[in-house]
Amino acid sequence: MPPLRLYNSLTRHVDALEPITPGRVTIYTCGSTVYRYAHIGNLRTYLFGDLLRRTLEYIGYDVLYVKNITDVGHMRETGEDPILLAAENEGKSPTEIAEFYTAAWLEDERLLNIRPADVMPNATDHIAEMIEITSALLDKGLAYEVGGNVYFDVSAFPDYGQLSGQRVDEMRTGTRVEVETDKRDPVDFALWKRAEPDRLMKWPSPWGEGFPGWHIECSAMSMKYLGERFDIHTGGIDLKFPHHEDEIAQSEGAIGHQVVSVWMHGEFLMLDDAKMARSVGNVIRVTDLPSKGFQPLDFRYLALTAHYRSKLDFTHEAMQAAAHGLRRLRRAASGGADDTDETAPDLSAEPMVAHRARFVDAISDDLAMPAAIAIAHGVASDDALTPAARRALLLDFDRVLGLDLDAPADPVDQELPAGAAELLERRAAARAARDYALSDALRDELGSMGVEVRDTPEGQVTTLRG
Ligand code: AMP
Ligand code: ZN
Repeated sequence: MPPLRLYNSLTRHVDALEPITPGRVTIYTCGSTVYRYAHIGNLRTYLFGDLLRRTLEYIGYDVLYVKNITDVGHMRETGEDPILLAAENEGKSPTEIAEFYTAAWLEDERLLNIRPADVMPNATDHIAEMIEITSALLDKGLAYEVGGNVYFDVSAFPDYGQLSGQRVDEMRTGTRVEVETDKRDPVDFALWKRAEPDRLMKWPSPWGEGFPGWHIECSAMSMKYLGERFDIHTGGIDLKFPHHEDEIAQSEGAIGHQVVSVWMHGEFLMLDDAKMARSVGNVIRVTDLPSKGFQPLDFRYLALTAHYRSKLDFTHEAMQAAAHGLRRLRRAASGGADDTDETAPDLSAEPMVAHRARFVDAISDDLAMPAAIAIAHGVASDDALTPAARRALLLDFDRVLGLDLDAPADPVDQELPAGAAELLERRAAARAARDYALSDALRDELGSMGVEVRDTPEGQVTTLRG
């Protein structure tokens, strides 16, 4: 198996992966907090996890992939649980909120060909495990209880700050005055919180009725499904601190040794120079893409054109280029589809081997997907390959890329009459703005040019007459 080199946020350099069990890799990804729709920024991070998993499988590893569902306790700056807030706002129970947004998230992932993880545990099903770790930390003198609240004692864990590089004394001077006044030290963080009597989501514990802190769920679920040592932990860059720093303190504190070998963090998706975020008000959902004239997989292609450790700008031009690139690859892959008289190309013979070796080199180099995409385009334009060979190689690469390269190149890509593309774009915008009179007028205009338009859940689909 060729060595896979990955950037480890903990060592701060690219290291060769050495799995705990040879041939097998265990991965945990922090999943969605299910109180609202995921946006394509969140999904960029899950795409990165999917690409890691697919790369490992392509290279030949057996992968066990766990991604959790956060349905409780994700406490933000305000100290409130966003799931309870959403339940109140939408007039539903917390369970209804969590189930609704879990389903929406999984559907968004399906549209982007993000394969479901092998295990997708819910935080609320693991309260007992969280209580167990909290008890272990109390027993070891790494946590303390104050009136039903349990806090991690950062000063008792000398390695605190190893992942994020934060210094505890600096954190202390930088901490704002907080609402929680019963902590011994402002840098300590909650493992368990006492519940107010009318709180909807609360559980019995040795410290009274309460609910878990924000970070403990990932210690509990990662170690339950992957064991006390596992290979890779991923998440978005903003989870490095405090979420992952605190997870390390909790897990290593309770177990007494290193748990995760490699920490990997994906960079942000940006829109108009800002991180895509609900708080900024610039979020886009996957299901919004068709009204902008794009398919969900155009976004997957866009994500592949940037390295996961670089910021990626979401712009109309970049999406157009992505849609174009995707169609070019699909067209190249469709070339050999009808060559029934040709024997199936042998991927283990030259020149296929050389192309595959270059592809493996790229993906093994800290998941260099832009290089992998360039190699796919090189195959698409390599006249020395037969159409069937090009198809076989591209479909083989697609096991990692996940771009449905055997799907027909979007019919919109056929030679459209002059001006039709612009009319289609205007029509997509009109539909997005619910201006159906304009959208119908544009459909008629397109029809008179010989372009038939159909509206599908995936957006406009065109057929050329004659
Ligand atoms: P949450 O559901 O809020 O816990 O976040 C889900 C994931 O999305 C986390 O891994 C975040 O780090 C990640 N994330 C949030 N905003 C962005 C963004 N603009 N680009 C990429 N990842 C993001
Ligand atoms: Zn987590």
